[in-house]
Amino acid sequence: MHSFSYARPRGVEAALQLAQQPGARFIAGGTNLLDLMKGGVEEPSRLIDISRIGDLAHIGESASGGLRIGALATNADTAAHPAVRERYPLLAQAILAGASPQLRNMASAGGNLLQRTRCPFFYDTGFPECNKRDPGSGCAARGGFNRNHAILGASEACIAVNPSDMSVALAALDAIVQIRSLRGSRAVPVSEFHRLPGQTPQHDTVLAAGEMIVAVDLPPNALARHSHYLKIRDRASYAFALVSVAAALDLDDAEGRAVKDVRLVIGSVAHKPWRVAEARALLVGKRVDAQSLAAVADAAASGAKPYKDNAFKVRLMKRAIVRALTEAAAEPADRRVA
Ligand code: SF4
Repeated sequence: MHSFSYARPRGVEAALQLAQQPGARFIAGGTNLLDLMKGGVEEPSRLIDISRIGDLAHIGESASGGLRIGALATNADTAAHPAVRERYPLLAQAILAGASPQLRNMASAGGNLLQRTRCPFFYDTGFPECNKRDPGSGCAARGGFNRNHAILGASEACIAVNPSDMSVALAALDAIVQIRSLRGSRAVPVSEFHRLPGQTPQHDTVLAAGEMIVAVDLPPNALARHSHYLKIRDRASYAFALVSVAAALDLDDAEGRAVKDVRLVIGSVAHKPWRVAEARALLVGKRVDAQSLAAVADAAASGAKPYKDNAFKVRLMKRAIVRALTEAAAEPADRRVA
């Protein structure tokens, strides 16, 4: 087995200093990284265990009147937090749709944003062709079994999808990733944090070496009241999505519930949570009805390019969009958090 050193710093600054070593990796809940290490996909030179940096687990009000979720807040604590359930039920729904209670007790907000694709060829080092694992080696999924792979935004180099439920909801809520490094701080919208594969699929996000996620900010958001997270999967629990949809609407009750604003983000169809930008032009000022929803679903699928085994995802995505937006418009989402 590949050997590595282990450190458990007590503060962010110390953790960032330790991360200067080439090949160093931060570890919190370890729900993805340890699997990757056991499979020989990740071989860090140093593990920096940040799980004891207590400040980063806090969930509380942000300066802007929204909510700040510390990078080490567990998925379980985030989904159960009263402010999340009341003001951002879409996020609670998405988190509870993912993984198992045991995993949600360990998985952190920062780690969820950084979880890697579940492409089986990426995990199985018996397949030498994987540009994400070994840049320049090829892509076994293009000619292999690719039922779960991308239909939007893929490249010749990689057709993998981002597997996160939480990130799809965060993108729909206009959340911001707060990042620290020894050079200072920066903030990146979740919708710009994950990237498309292009010719460098080994990079899932815009996070640079030596940078650490310290928090995720949820802005005050009128869109959160009418929202719904819909996850379609092969079995009822503990399965990654075939397609998921985060729909959030701001409805004008004085104008017959016409749409004032909308966010629509699709999961498990691309290398990043896929924002359907056309939804605003097609829905704002209109009522949510069969005609307007069909137009949005058509627009979302207009650039779809399915592969050998996943053409069904295009139709599934369109139907999921219609259902999620219909649910979001139907009633305040806070009644539906389990
Ligand atoms: Fe690797 Fe991406 Fe191809 Fe999967 S789809 S084998 S992750 S390059």
